[in-house]
Amino acid sequence: MNCIFCKIAKKEIKSYLIYEDDISIAFLDINPLSRGHILFVPKKHYKTLSEIPDGELAELMKSLKRVLNIVEEKLSKNYNIINNCGKIAGQEIEHVHIHIVPRYGGEEIFLWKTHKLTEEEAEDILKRLK
Ligand code: AMP
Ligand code: ZN
Repeated sequence: MNCIFCKIAKKEIKSYLIYEDDISIAFLDINPLSRGHILFVPKKHYKTLSEIPDGELAELMKSLKRVLNIVEEKLSKNYNIINNCGKIAGQEIEHVHIHIVPRYGGEEIFLWKTHKLTEEEAEDILKRLK
């Protein structure tokens, strides 16, 4: 499969590796949003988090936690965890990955444009979700 993250996981392509175990790998994003922006990636190819079988996902969360412990200890206790799922949501690489973006203060990122939830919108979306 011509997947860049599969290639990184197999060490066919260089990455700035910060963590590895049997099921996952974590390396620096080459276009960082902040200093120490890390990508946490399962070694097995799945497109989305919801595709990962429950047992594997549980194990991956333990690995993710180890990476978070490293970030907290070495970089910052403040960070954003982001998973872009699907093209419209900004997923460019179709191999599931979790962004860990350390925050130090003053970063001009994540300027989300929100709106106030109305009663009507809430009722409508709840009807769909329940
Ligand atoms: P996404 O838009 O959520 O799919 O994120 C893909 C991320 O992968 C982007 O932030 C890219 O900067 C990053 N990226 C792409 N190629 C590489 C690579 N070879 N090594 C490290 N990060 C990469
Ligand atoms: Zn892949």
